[in-house]
Order: sequence, then structure tokens, then C-alpha cells
Amino acid sequence: MVASLRIGHGFDLHRLEPGHELVVGGLRLEHDRGCDAHSDGDVVYHAVTDAILGALAQQDIGQLFPDNDPKWKAADSRIFVEEAARRMRETGYAIGNLDVTVILQRPKLGPHKQTIRENLAGLLGCGLSQVNLKGKTHEQVDALGENRAIACHVVVLLVGVG
Ligand SMILES: [Zn+2]
Repeated sequence: MVASLRIGHGFDLHRLEPGHELVVGGLRLEHDRGCDAHSDGDVVYHAVTDAILGALAQQDIGQLFPDNDPKWKAADSRIFVEEAARRMRETGYAIGNLDVTVILQRPKLGPHKQTIRENLAGLLGCGLSQVNLKGKTHEQVDALGENRAIACHVVVLLVGVG
């Protein structure tokens, strides 16, 4: 019997500006700028949420949590991932694996990768070996490379557990 599989993709980008905090994968990083966003601007949590919602064919993060709703102002983005994970379990799926790519010129992501993977595995109820995190610079090209933006791509595979 073939397992029930669903694949999803998520993408997110935020502007980086002085005077804001930089939160990546639930972790506050030391930096001279951060995300000017409605919530805490966590591109990893936003892209993971969208990847899971995409796999479930359940709309997207902007439809579930509108950015014109004051309720989500400065929100901790873990609530978005938790809601996506709840919907995943409710429909009888679990994480097969998750592959995350963060595009960021500075600061270096390397020292924080393990903690971010642990944050994601904890929120999604899966093992560390099912969560990969890659950091890329943008070779100093365009807004991403000029430290004016941060972006994230996520691919997720969900496995039916019903
Ligand atoms: Zn976002």
C-alpha cells in the first residue's frame, strides 16, 4: 500500500530596517536591524506555516491571520506554526520531512541552526532528523544581498498517519 503523501511549498520575505528586532525561527538574533512587519516578522515560521497550509490545500497565512487585524500586531509567530500543525494533525498527517532555506546576507546563521531546528521540531512534533535548515547569502546582490531584506523558502512533505 502506498502511503498518503502531500507536498507543500512556502516562501516569505521581509524588509530589514534599523530599529526593529530580527527574529528567525523563533530566535532573536543580534543585528543592527530587523523586520518591519505586522507580527514579529519571522520569515522561517511564516514560510513553514505556508508550506504546511499549502500541503493541506488550506489557504495561506495571510488569509488565516490577516495583517490588518490588530490581534496579530507584534504577534509571536509560533502561534501561526502551531495552528498549521494543529490543522495537519486534525486532517491525519504528520511531518515526513521539512527543508528550510534562509537567504540572509548578515548575520551568519551557522551558530543558530541547531536551535532553530530544535524549535521547529518541537513545534511540529517531529524528530530533528526530519528538519533541515540551510543558510545562504545573496552574494551582495539586490536587496537581499545588501542586507535590506531577509527571505525563506520551505518545502515540506506530509505523511498520512490515519
Ligand atoms: Zn512574513
